[in-house]
Amino acid sequence: MDRNFDALVVGAGFAGAVCARALAEGGKRVLLLERRPHVGGNAYDRPDQAGILIHQYGPHIFHTNNREVFRWLSRFTPWRDYQHRVVADIPDGKGGRLRYPVPFNLTSLERAFGQQEGRRLGAKLMAAYGPEKKVTILALRQNQDQEIAALADYVYEHVFVHYTMKQWGQRPEDIDPNTTARVPVFLSRDDRYFQDACQGMPLEGYTPMFERMLNHPNITLELGADALERLDVSGPELRVDGAPFPGTVIYTGQADELFRFQYGPLPYRTLDFAFETLNRDDFQGYGTVNYTVDQDYTRITEFKHLTGQVCPGKTTIMKEYSRAYTGAPGEIPYYAIINPDNNALYDQYAALAARFPNLQLLGRLAEYKYYNMDAIAGRALELAETILTK
Ligand code: FAD
Ligand code: UDP
Repeated sequence: MDRNFDALVVGAGFAGAVCARALAEGGKRVLLLERRPHVGGNAYDRPDQAGILIHQYGPHIFHTNNREVFRWLSRFTPWRDYQHRVVADIPDGKGGRLRYPVPFNLTSLERAFGQQEGRRLGAKLMAAYGPEKKVTILALRQNQDQEIAALADYVYEHVFVHYTMKQWGQRPEDIDPNTTARVPVFLSRDDRYFQDACQGMPLEGYTPMFERMLNHPNITLELGADALERLDVSGPELRVDGAPFPGTVIYTGQADELFRFQYGPLPYRTLDFAFETLNRDDFQGYGTVNYTVDQDYTRITEFKHLTGQVCPGKTTIMKEYSRAYTGAPGEIPYYAIINPDNNALYDQYAALAARFPNLQLLGRLAEYKYYNMDAIAGRALELAETILTK
C-alpha cells in the first residue's frame, strides 16, 4: 500500500463513506476499498431499464431525530419531503382483501372491527395506556384485561406472527424484542411509519449523495476491491499489502469473515428481491404494502411513491423474500440475528479485533447490530471525531 495513506476504510456504505469523508476533512489521507462495483452499500440506488429509480438492496427511507446528522448529510443532497406510510394487506375473510395502517393504530382498529366497535376499543386502550402512546405487541399481550388481551391476539395474528415468521423464521416472542418494538401499536390517528422530526429521500437518490460525499481530494476510492486480499489480521500486527500498517483501519464488513470464520460463521438473514416493471401508472398506491397474513413475500415496494418520480404508464415494483443466509457466492448478509448465543459468538470476534489498537469495527455487519442509516451515520461521525482528536 502506498505509504502516504493515514487511514484505510473498508466498505463504502453509510459507515465507511461517512467516516472516510469526516477523516478526510480532518486532514487524513484515506484509502477507501469497496468490494462492490458501486458506492452506497445497501442504500445504493440506480435507474432500472425502464428509467425508474430503484433501490437495489431494498427500500431505504431516511428518518431521524438527530438534527446534526441530518444537517451533515444535507451538505451532500437536497431532500424530497416524504413521509412513509405502510399498510397491511390481508384477506378480509369474505373472499376480498382488507388494508389498514401499520403500525397498527386507531384507524386500523376501525378498519378491522368497524367504526363503532373500533372506537370503543380505541377508547379502552387509551384509558389503559394514554392517547398517542406506543405499546409493543409483546407488552400488549401481557395485559390482563380480557378484551385487551383478545385485541392483542388479533394484532399478533394479523400483523406480527406470519410476517415475523417470514422475515426471521421465528415467532415474535423468540426474536430480539427490540425488533418488533420498532413497529409498536400506536394509539393515534398518525398513520406514518415513523414519527421522526426529519424524514425524506435524497432528492436525486442515495448514490449521488454518496458520490458527492466521497468526492474529496484526501479520499482515494477503489471499487471492485476486496480488502481481505490486502488486509491481514492473522499475525500479531496488522498488515496491509504485506507490510505493517500503523495508520487507522476502519472495517465495515463482516467480523467473522475478517477473521476467516475461525470460531464459525455468524448467522444472518438474507433477502431475495423480485423486480418487475408494469405498464401502468400505479400498482398499489403506497411505497410499501406489507403482506402480514398470506403470500411468501413479506412486502411489495413500489419505488415511484418513495422517490416521487413521475413516470406515466410505467412503474417498477419489488417483492421481498427473506431466508437464512448460507454464505453461498453472491448472497448478501442483510440482517444480524441478534440473540444471546450469536452475540456471544460475535464477542469472540470483537475480542480478536480488540488486539489491534488501530483497528475499528464499524457498521451493521462489523458490529453485528440493527443500525438504521441515521444511527450508523451518527456513530461514524463520532468515531472519526475520536480518531481525529487522538
Ligand atoms: P452496508 O450498507 O452493508 O455497507 C458495507 C459495505 O462494505 C458494503 O458495500 C460491502 O460491499 C462492503 N464490504 C464488505 N466487506 C468488504 C471487503 N472485504 N472489502 C471491501 N468492501 C467490503 N435504514 C434506515 O434508516 N431506513 C430504512 O428504510 C432502511 N431500510 C432497510 C431495508 C433493508 C432491506 C435493509 C437490509 C436495511 C435497511 N436499512 C434502513 C438499514 C441500512 O441499510 C443500514 O443502516 C446501512 O446500510 C448500514 O450501513 P453500513 O455501512 O454499516 O453497511
Ligand atoms: N413486523 C411485523 N409486521 C409488520 C411490520 C413489522 O411483524 O407489518 C415486525 C417484523 O418482525 C419485523 C420487525 O417488526 O422484522 C421490524 O420491522 P421494520 O419494518 O422495522 O423492519 P425493517 O424492514 O426496517 O428491517
